Amino acid sequence: VAPQDGAACAWLSGASAARQRPHASHKGSYGDVAVLGGAPGMAGAALLAGSASLHGGAGRVFVALLDGGSLGVDPGRPELMLRAPDALDLRAMTVVCGCGGGKAVRAVLPRVLSLAARAVLDADALNAIAADPQLQMLLQARTRRGLPTVLTPHPLEAARLLGLSTAQVQADRLAAARRLAGQHGGVVVLKGSGTVIAAPGRLPSINPTGNARLATAGTGDVLAGLLGARLASGLPAFEAACEAVHDHGLAADRWPVGQALTATHLAQKIS
Ligand code: AMP
Ligand code: MG
Repeated sequence: VAPQDGAACAWLSGASAARQRPHASHKGSYGDVAVLGGAPGMAGAALLAGSASLHGGAGRVFVALLDGGSLGVDPGRPELMLRAPDALDLRAMTVVCGCGGGKAVRAVLPRVLSLAARAVLDADALNAIAADPQLQMLLQARTRRGLPTVLTPHPLEAARLLGLSTAQVQADRLAAARRLAGQHGGVVVLKGSGTVIAAPGRLPSINPTGNARLATAGTGDVLAGLLGARLASGLPAFEAACEAVHDHGLAADRWPVGQALTATHLAQKIS
């Protein structure tokens, strides 16, 4: 499918539009997302992911900041419920972990990997896993149990997980994504121009939407949050990943000419 193929894109986005909400549904019907991230100075990453989950249709969104303090409310987004990480029952939730997580994310990862009903692992969660064989074992145990799990590395994060250079990952992105999926189980979203979605035993998918306007801070956090919403809605992990990546790129392709694309506005347009 060529990126400019309007018919194909319309068909794909129609798939999400067609999932109409039953009249008698309620917020519990659309799932709970918990975002764990936002080390000191990086709270914005977790809030962006939370905002994208809300705009992506999640029923309720909790944000647990890892900066050791700022509980309360985000006045700009009062729908987000700010909680301490250990106050959340992860067994009932789709957990988006790692956005702006810094080193603090290491402490919450064992709980996330063991308990979360569904998980999106991004950014510093991936860096922590790359550096720690114990976390790698917990991740493999999780995917062996069949718990839906999506890893969303950009090329440098993928390189760390694979023990390769970024250049080696970029030289054969399909092979890198497949190898990573084989290594840890679960679904791998290798981001960048032509995002690859791979999973063990499945033909990988190359996303046709998106453009270099996405090359700005925070857009990866928006993707992680949107993907959390898709998983929380009950979609299987591979389909949730393909759809979130597609819709994220499509929003950028439809961005008005002459208007700057920022992650905050992308999160708001993502629905
Ligand atoms: P991150 O690197 O985590 O901030 O994520 C950046 C997001 O923007 C990912 O979803 C990338 O796939 C997307 N992105 C960045 N640059 C491009 C590009 N040149 N073409 C398409 N998508 C891009
Ligand atoms: Mg990122």
